Order: sequence, then C-alpha cells, then structure tokens
Amino acid sequence: MLKFIGVGDLLNSDLLNTSAYIKKENKMLLIDCGVMSFKRMLELNLFDDIDTVYIAITHMHPDHVGALASLVFYLNNKKIVPNIIVPCEDEEQKQDIVNFLFLQGLVNDKYNLINDEDTFVFDNMLKFTYKQIKHNELLKSFAIEMSFVDKKIYYLGDNNDERYQKNIAKKLGDNDLVYTDCCGNNSTHHIDLDTLTEIYDEKTRKQVYCMHFKDDESIFKAKNLGFNIAIKEQSKEEYLKKIMSH
Ligand SMILES: [Zn+2]
Ligand SMILES: [Zn+2]
Repeated sequence: MLKFIGVGDLLNSDLLNTSAYIKKENKMLLIDCGVMSFKRMLELNLFDDIDTVYIAITHMHPDHVGALASLVFYLNNKKIVPNIIVPCEDEEQKQDIVNFLFLQGLVNDKYNLINDEDTFVFDNMLKFTYKQIKHNELLKSFAIEMSFVDKKIYYLGDNNDERYQKNIAKKLGDNDLVYTDCCGNNSTHHIDLDTLTEIYDEKTRKQVYCMHFKDDESIFKAKNLGFNIAIKEQSKEEYLKKIMSH
C-alpha cells in the first residue's frame, strides 16, 4: 500500500533515508523527508501529477525532516502550498516545526499546518492519528496510525517501543499492516529483529514491513525471520537498465 522513496537509516547512501508515500488521484501523502531521499523524490518526478500534498513528520532527526524546508520551497515553486500534519495535542511539536522552517527562511504562508485527528487525507481514509512512541530520550517520536475503510496501517518512523508493538500485535486485523524500523543487533534507539520476532508470530510477520535498514545484513536477517521488506521505488530508467543488464 505504501510506496518507498528510501528504506535506509541516517547514513545509508545506498538505500537512502526511509520515506514513504501514498498517492490517490491528484493528492499525495508523504511521510518524512530526509536529505538523501529529497533528491530521489525529484528524480522520480513524484510531484508532477499532484496538486495537493500532505506531509507527515515522525520526528526531528535529520533523516526524517532534514529536507523539509527544501521540499516546501520546491513545492511553492510549483504553486503548491503543502499541508504539514501536526499532532493536535502537542503544541511543542507544532512549534518545533514552525521554528525549524522559520530558521530556514519559511514563514507560515508558505505552508499550512493542519491537525491530525480531523484530517481526512483521502476519501477512503477515516482517521489519521499520531501516537508518541519511545525512540530517543532527546526528542519525541511519533507513530502514525491510519484507518482506512478496509484496513489499518501502523507506521513507526523510528522506535524502540516494545510495549506499543505488543499492543499492535494483539489487535492486528487480517488486512492491517505494520511498517517499522528495525536493527540487526541490540540498539537503544531501534527495535531489534529478535524482539520483533518474539512479538509477532509467524503468521502475522507477513503483515509487518521492516524498513530503515543500516546494512544489507539486516535486510537478509529480517527476510529470513519471515518479515516483509519495504523496497524502494525505482525510476523507469533504473528499471530498464536493470532489465537490460540481464
Ligand atoms: Zn531514522
Ligand atoms: Zn530517529
């Protein structure tokens, strides 16, 4: 359901910073906007057929928000004023985003701030909610819960939140999907694959997409454990090049 611009962590120049999107007709919802992924968005001409853009930011680490100002400038240049979705109950997070953009020369007529909860991004989206999750003690991180008519999507930007994951696993419906960062070995900021394996049984692991990879090793490990893998989009040129080389 989600498409991916990048699936790597902060420093993975190969897989780019994890960033995802959904398009429906002329509307688009973009989740996170890291520096390495921004260039890729332009290469993929992602905004060519779009006139309404919603941007969700999971947290303020540079691999998730680093190119947000560049993106707003880029969209303004295309006569698009993007809608940045912020948690309605968290004034501090809202203000952090406003300040972050102001320091880069963007005042608030260049973008709209809209609250989660009352945001219906697409016709078939019933609810969009941020939930604060455990990631790094220095800054807040949010999971995004999106309810559609037929399924629920849980997107965990960056987390090491066993309790939240266990709670999802308990109530996961057959059509529901989970997108989560992960890591191969112990890390204080990202949930490790062994813990995810304990939380999600073999059957539900197919509904869990791992992302935010540090290296190829963690991709193989996730795959071998039965999880799904988020795969980054290829441009038409890259796709053709790959086919031709076989
Ligand atoms: Zn990250
Ligand atoms: Zn992070």
